[in-house]
Amino acid sequence: MLDIESFRKAGYLAIDRICDYYTALQTQRDVVSSVEPGYLAKLVPNAAPNDGEDIDIIANDFQSLIMPGITHWQHPKFFAYFPANANLVSILADIYASSVSNPGFGWTCSPACTELESIVMDWSTRLFGLDDAFLYSGGGGGIIMGSASESALTAAIGARERALRILAAQDKKQHEQDSSLPETSIPLHSREKWSQRLVMYGSTQTHSIGAKAALIMGHPFRAVPVTLEDGFSLRGDALRAVMEEDKAAGLVPFFVIGTVGTTSSGAVDNITEIGEVLEDYPTAHLHIDAAWAGMGYACPEYREILRLEDVNKYAASYSSNFHKQGLVHFDCSAIWVRDRTLLTEALDVTPEFLRTKQGDAGLVIDYRNLQLALGRKFRSLKLWFVLRSYGVSGFQAHIRKSVDLANRLATLITSTTSSTTPSGPLFELVAPISLSLVVFRLHPPGVSDEVELDKLNRSFYDRINRRKDIMLTQTLLPGQLFCIRWAIGAESTRWEDVAGAWESVMEEVDGKYVG
Ligand SMILES: *Cc1c(COP(=O)(O)O)cnc(C)c1O
Repeated sequence: MLDIESFRKAGYLAIDRICDYYTALQTQRDVVSSVEPGYLAKLVPNAAPNDGEDIDIIANDFQSLIMPGITHWQHPKFFAYFPANANLVSILADIYASSVSNPGFGWTCSPACTELESIVMDWSTRLFGLDDAFLYSGGGGGIIMGSASESALTAAIGARERALRILAAQDKKQHEQDSSLPETSIPLHSREKWSQRLVMYGSTQTHSIGAKAALIMGHPFRAVPVTLEDGFSLRGDALRAVMEEDKAAGLVPFFVIGTVGTTSSGAVDNITEIGEVLEDYPTAHLHIDAAWAGMGYACPEYREILRLEDVNKYAASYSSNFHKQGLVHFDCSAIWVRDRTLLTEALDVTPEFLRTKQGDAGLVIDYRNLQLALGRKFRSLKLWFVLRSYGVSGFQAHIRKSVDLANRLATLITSTTSSTTPSGPLFELVAPISLSLVVFRLHPPGVSDEVELDKLNRSFYDRINRRKDIMLTQTLLPGQLFCIRWAIGAESTRWEDVAGAWESVMEEVDGKYVG
């Protein structure tokens, strides 16, 4: 329990400690936590204290017990998974948002929370150059959710409802024309019948959010193969082949996930080709997952390579995470829909006690009808603070800096040579650089056996992985290509950090290649 004056004191201390943390992050901490599994249970009691404790003791325990178990994603030498920017501005916004905490499920909960979300999402639509249809005034709109997983699941639920309505309408029409048709073609039963035949699609590189949404909803997920030659990008022909096979078996495609910037290699699916295939499948909804790379749309020069035009033309829903490279700390995942009824038709179950005169009159958005849960956080405040504090130019500069560092790193990687005879490049880029993700592997001159390369790269990565001063991730690409991902994007990262981390990586290369 805290009275106002104690909160003031503890709050000042907390801010001081946060400042000290960021000041010393680079020089005084390793990136990776060194604790062993179960470390914390050994240090804390197994039940909550009976009598309340002093806030200073609790706050000190954060420093002494929790901090050692933290992996520092804001560290300038954190290059694992994907960037997940925390940001001093969004931290501040979150403090204000917490101070007026409310469940935000409808406009009347706190009108500002609802209205600010629609406004900042429209700002973001324009920031990224998304089509005007994704604006609220265009009938669509953006909604802030907790994760790209939640966004994909929500879009899929909307898409299923839409597909079932299309199929039921077809059945109804047929039944009206021929009443001797079986009972299963009557709309009520037809939903049940068709539900069992719906299929979701993505590629083998689609994030597991696709398979997870399918699992939750009880539909099969088809992972269409991609190849190294295509840069691991999903092509139309491969998708069409699988869909035709399913159609012949009486199944119905209802949801396709295309990815802009896959997690493993940063591949961008061929959305034009996918969109063209889907023109033959009116029940199929195209959702674009740009969870990580979508922030790149803020810079006009990356829009073409990230296929923005195709997204604007073909995507029925699109999602990207501000909580990755977008300077807003977790969580802040945005999803845009071209048509809000996609979600309301599946998710609006307004009971009497939630009805309001503004909602009934259609004057306001009630966000509970556009998402799975009833309540929701006031996340838009973080985004509003960040977009205003950085401005479009500051936001762009942050993205451009990371891309520039990735390009310089790639040059460093490809120009490193082996000291063996024959001599030559020691590494290769396995996929083209995608925004600020570099995927590479050891490939010493004269070694061409894939089994040997696999062994070499796994032991190399094992050694890197044992270090605490840098953090990178491994991945396995189609063709059993074991490689190393180097994802750049922390706000604090400068060239010295990347170059220094490269020196650490080079220390782990087998001595026979580096003399
Ligand atoms: C990170 C990532 C996800 C998962 O994002 P969450 O917000 O954690 O659910 C999905 N897709 C891609 C391409 C990603 O990079």
